[in-house]
Amino acid sequence: MLDISIIRCLSDNYSYLIRDNATNLVGVVDPSEFNPVNLEISKTYKKLDFILNTHHHHDHVGGNIDLKKKYNSKVICSSYDEGRIPGLDIKKSDGDQFSLGETEFKIMHIPGHTLGHIAFYSQKNKVIFTGDTLFSLGCGRIFEGTFEQMFKSLEKIKSLPKNTMMYCGHEYTKNNGQFCTSIDEENRKLQNRIKNADDKIKNNLPTIPITLGEELETNIFLRCEDKKIKNKLKMNNASKLEVFTKLRNLKDQF
Ligand code: ZN
Ligand code: FE
Repeated sequence: MLDISIIRCLSDNYSYLIRDNATNLVGVVDPSEFNPVNLEISKTYKKLDFILNTHHHHDHVGGNIDLKKKYNSKVICSSYDEGRIPGLDIKKSDGDQFSLGETEFKIMHIPGHTLGHIAFYSQKNKVIFTGDTLFSLGCGRIFEGTFEQMFKSLEKIKSLPKNTMMYCGHEYTKNNGQFCTSIDEENRKLQNRIKNADDKIKNNLPTIPITLGEELETNIFLRCEDKKIKNKLKMNNASKLEVFTKLRNLKDQF
């Protein structure tokens, strides 16, 4: 079993403290900054064996060096990000495994937001850490890759079991939900999700994790073949990639 605690960092980032409870090995996914992560460690496990980075952006690696110094942790990231992830120790490529004790993670290379972006997926625990690629009701901006790369990366995540719990890098659900409803106006499941998310935000709770199954029904970036969405965009004969490209461009201006 894997224990996961959500740590708020910076203005809207999430870092995740994870522990394999069979072996008591502890990791952190995307430590944005030292202080909040260190505080959570001091209240819980008092150690940190591994730092897992999804990509090189500062709001995902900002705590690497100070945490590593204090806890003697090993940094795991994409082999593509050599030279741009501070403190790198262990390089991983698509399809590789990373074991946190008895918890096996599969490394999924999901380029688009950045070229080296990876996700950590545990089939047994039904969890995936998606960084800035798949968000609750959204997807990341395309900074380094192509629209096609991002689209294919999302397709890869879509193929995982629907009961997989998705943990992403930012609390963007509210704004993402507003964009989704502007396009997918009649989706009742989407409206319910937004209502639930609003309640959580009002109570100062995170809107994640969320299952991939719920995302598939409500996140328009995963629904590029939906007839109503295509109709709304006046793209009835367009390919899924063309619809995705249009949605991503519209979101950039939203
Ligand atoms: Zn990023
Ligand atoms: Fe980010």
